[in-house]
Amino acid sequence: MSQLAHQIGSLLFCPDCGTLLNLPRDEEHQVACEQCGHLEPASSYENIEIVTRSHPEAFPSALLQKRKTQTKVHEGEDALLKVTEKCPSCGHMEAFSKEMQLRSADEGSTILYTCVKCRHGWRVNN
Ligand SMILES: [Zn+2]
Ligand SMILES: [Zn+2]
Repeated sequence: MSQLAHQIGSLLFCPDCGTLLNLPRDEEHQVACEQCGHLEPASSYENIEIVTRSHPEAFPSALLQKRKTQTKVHEGEDALLKVTEKCPSCGHMEAFSKEMQLRSADEGSTILYTCVKCRHGWRVNN
């Protein structure tokens, strides 16, 4: 059973020949002295290992930045244009109109009507 390495500061030296031992690589359980072949257990380094792992100080920014819920302004009837149009359902002469542009230019626009009285809806193509 050989001796453990001599520790000077954060460095380990071979107890047999005094050679500076290399740091153990990942998953290496022992460090071999390059001069004499002394095997130093990697656990010897654990005591002197300077922890430099930084804490994850920053939280994910997405969690901190809570998005404000956007309140949708519902388009009420006040925004609609009230026109004189005969309702095909009840014959009332007032209806809300809303022009709806179709994707095809050839088809022009379509005006949506909603009866003020009975809420019946119909459309008229221009
Ligand atoms: Zn050695
Ligand atoms: Zn109507």
